[in-house]
Amino acid sequence: MKIEEQNLKVLMINLPFSGHTNPTLGLAKELVEQGCEVTYIQAPEWKDRVLITGAQFVVYDDYPDTLSPTQKEIKSWRAAYNTALRIGSDYDCIVYEILFCVGKSLADRLRKPSVRLFSTFALNQTVLDMFAKTGGLYMTSIFRFRLLYQVLSRVICKNFKLRTNDIIDEIVFNPPELNYVYTLKEFQILNNEFPSANYKFIGPSIVHRSSNIHIDFEEIRNPLIYISLGTLLNSSVSFYKKCFAAFARENVTVILSIGQTVSVKKLGQIPKNFRVHSFVPQLEVLQHTSLFITHGGMNSVNEAMYYGVPMLVVPVGNDQPTVANRVNELGLGKRLNRKKLSSESLKCAAFDVMNDVKIKKVVQEFQQAMSKAGGNRFAAHEIIDYIRNQNF
Ligand code: UDP
Repeated sequence: MKIEEQNLKVLMINLPFSGHTNPTLGLAKELVEQGCEVTYIQAPEWKDRVLITGAQFVVYDDYPDTLSPTQKEIKSWRAAYNTALRIGSDYDCIVYEILFCVGKSLADRLRKPSVRLFSTFALNQTVLDMFAKTGGLYMTSIFRFRLLYQVLSRVICKNFKLRTNDIIDEIVFNPPELNYVYTLKEFQILNNEFPSANYKFIGPSIVHRSSNIHIDFEEIRNPLIYISLGTLLNSSVSFYKKCFAAFARENVTVILSIGQTVSVKKLGQIPKNFRVHSFVPQLEVLQHTSLFITHGGMNSVNEAMYYGVPMLVVPVGNDQPTVANRVNELGLGKRLNRKKLSSESLKCAAFDVMNDVKIKKVVQEFQQAMSKAGGNRFAAHEIIDYIRNQNF
């Protein structure tokens, strides 16, 4: 029997990481606005941000507040899975982000259709190999160390009752029919390897995010450089000090977002033309920015393309080097090597990119394509159609 009722029930599941959750909140909001009942399973700290979308919030079962970041990573998988298993049979569809890569198998177990979201590039074996080779000693390095990978993979597959013994096989060979990627097809690496019927490239998730930081853009007269290493791998005090040295004497204003781990005190004297914050309303800042110096987080880069901002990418790890290479090869900006970086080379590259007319043109073309990519509204519309046509 087809599901024809108006009130479709969608269960969204995610792990507690900003880069992976932020874009999907826009989808929750759109699904709610298009008449679905949405429930979002997340860690306790996400409650307010989920509720604001109009979705119901279900906190992970058995998940103490006192976990360290590493414990969180391990515990959140199990907690998210068990919670979804407990309540999932009441829903018409399971929507999950790729970091929760056991989502498809969970949906199969519940006999529900599923939809997968990618806040990074769409993944296949070659893309994962690239991450493994270039991503440094961070999360993606698990794909590089074969033995460690195999042991971990077996444990995960057994624990989550996957059909294979290999987590990469699960990601690559057991995909849901519908996959949404928060970038443009033109930006996706190896984009011909992802069939258009199954992989939809919808551009970034641009939804208003409340912020208590007020920046008076009216009073900024010089070109604005915005610098951020994102929310995870952002603790390089020496990089921030190089930024001070590079731009302190230049006719530019710099907004520097340093994240929650580095204290402003550690940075010493802050130059007069710098405004340093632990977090800024990035979507608003980008609308006034002439150059974005970024770590190459996929969300940040997509947001920069959306607002037509040229980039200087200084990747740290995981998918960031691959993203940085893509920015470089498409001419949306340039990639710099953080280990070889001096304040002088940073300054020269920054002015080169800001004054480069070719980069400006490419950035404008991508901005135009971004404005037509459809975003979460398009995805929600398609997902609803897809669920209605299911025979589960
Ligand atoms: N972000 C923000 N303000 C900041 C720093 C980051 O709003 O001061 C947001 C940014 O807009 C993006 C996300 O946090 O949506 C960071 O995700 P990304 O994938 O770029 O990097 P990650 O933090 O996952 O490394």
